[in-house]
Amino acid sequence: MNPELLRRYLAFYRDLGVRFLWRRALTPHPAPVASLAAADPLAAAPPAPALLFAEEAPADDSLARIREDIGECTRCRLHKGRTNIVFGDGNEQAKLVFVGEGPGAEEDAQGLPFVGRAGQLLTQMIEGTARKEGLHLRRSDVYICNVVKCRPPENRTPLPDEIDTCSPFLFRQLAVIRPKAICCLGATAARALLGRKEGVTRLRGQWYRWQDIPVMVTYHPSYLLRPYNQSAKREAWEDLKKVLHYVYD
Ligand code: SF4
Repeated sequence: MNPELLRRYLAFYRDLGVRFLWRRALTPHPAPVASLAAADPLAAAPPAPALLFAEEAPADDSLARIREDIGECTRCRLHKGRTNIVFGDGNEQAKLVFVGEGPGAEEDAQGLPFVGRAGQLLTQMIEGTARKEGLHLRRSDVYICNVVKCRPPENRTPLPDEIDTCSPFLFRQLAVIRPKAICCLGATAARALLGRKEGVTRLRGQWYRWQDIPVMVTYHPSYLLRPYNQSAKREAWEDLKKVLHYVYD
């Protein structure tokens, strides 16, 4: 990029209060990790993390500080239609983080992620699968957030520039929590964290990584609510079983 243009971009973001920038790695398509069941699962990992820090995150970074930095954000056009910023919810020391796409109507109204029908299904998936697998896990034990923090109009998919503008906050959330694994719910989360543009059908069921954290991609619960997607439900349950056993066994 032209240095003068870069300088102006940086000045623009500094004026908006952005103190940390992240950039995509030059290897945006990490291959899947064959299995995390091996004795040292990280040894089998693809070499390049999907995203790299452009600057070190502050040593004392915290979820509260990230929320403070977001403020009453107007950094992208999504702020125009929102009622509430939906930052994230759950255990701040969670071993498992679920990342969705963006808030829907109910989430926007309440300021909490995954509280509508898709959220109820996600709760059932987490708690029901854990129970069947003999694990004691409540939704409140995990952390749940989205790629974009404001509701896109008509629940449309967030646009690439909206994802790029908002995802640094997600990266900081993940860097602070440092879970044992991340579960991407849907293609937008996979794109933001892994730089992958394929659909979930292609990506699901395999391990990838963000930084050094294993990442599983599966279907977004709202996709599973559609009556013609019932076969995907079984696959989503299989994906979730893998994640839960990896994290909590
Ligand atoms: S979606 Fe993110 S970047 Fe855009 S206005 Fe909301 S908080 Fe700011």
